[in-house]
Amino acid sequence: MSDALRTSHLTKVYGAGDLAVRALDDVTLSLPSGRFTSIMGSSGSGKSTFMHVVAGLERATSGTVVIGDLDLSSAGDDALTRMRRDHVGFIFPSFNLLPNYSVRQNVLLPLRLGRRRPEGPWFERIVETLGLGGLLAKTPEQLSGGQQQRAAIARALLGRPEVILADEPTGSLDSATSTEVLELLRICVREFGQTVVMASHDVAAAAFAEQTVLLSDGRVAGKVSNPTTRSILTALEALDVRVGIE
Ligand code: ADP
Ligand code: MG
Repeated sequence: MSDALRTSHLTKVYGAGDLAVRALDDVTLSLPSGRFTSIMGSSGSGKSTFMHVVAGLERATSGTVVIGDLDLSSAGDDALTRMRRDHVGFIFPSFNLLPNYSVRQNVLLPLRLGRRRPEGPWFERIVETLGLGGLLAKTPEQLSGGQQQRAAIARALLGRPEVILADEPTGSLDSATSTEVLELLRICVREFGQTVVMASHDVAAAAFAEQTVLLSDGRVAGKVSNPTTRSILTALEALDVRVGIE
């Protein structure tokens, strides 16, 4: 199986001198295409930094990221823009909806920019699953935080990008909606062969994936295949023991 995303010795340092924070420390990973991978770790373990760097939104301090065939460290701005527009869907808390557009316009925007049309049944399914039916004509400021989050998820999924990068996609959702969103991500992988990489500090959310990568202090601390809540917790406990011994 080919890799959708590869990182090699990826390091990200914020600040300098005594204040330097090594948010990512030598992360080498290959994530297969057509799979659902979760990146799990406690707050501050480097999940969001990882997602931003692999999305090409922040430059790594050192190391490389390859998405599909594109090496982000050597790619020009045009190639990066095309990659983000045509091949990757983002579910990031910092990716706000555009305030002067309706929810419908926001959701359709990536397709419009890529001069593509939405597929009717998929649009309906996403809108229904995410409970956006009655909200399409509203503007983002008329929505609650959770509703905005659901609209942002619809925007990311509609064009069926090859790779979906999601940072805490269920962060501001109630548990019923969280489950539906996670099931929708699963459908993207199982039915449409998309690749999902999802960062979450929530064990139950991480367990929806087919494999879990554990991050600790910016390092890959372990991997769990076919994760369950229990197997992730067991792996995390083992980490604590190791850290305790050091
Ligand atoms: P997570 O998403 O797992 O909670 P982050 O990637 O947000 O972790 O943060 C990893 C580490 O990097 C933390 O110590 C955080 O304080 C630090 N960090 C993240 N972003 C910045 C930034 N822009 N400037 C300085 N430090 C940062
Ligand atoms: Mg984070």
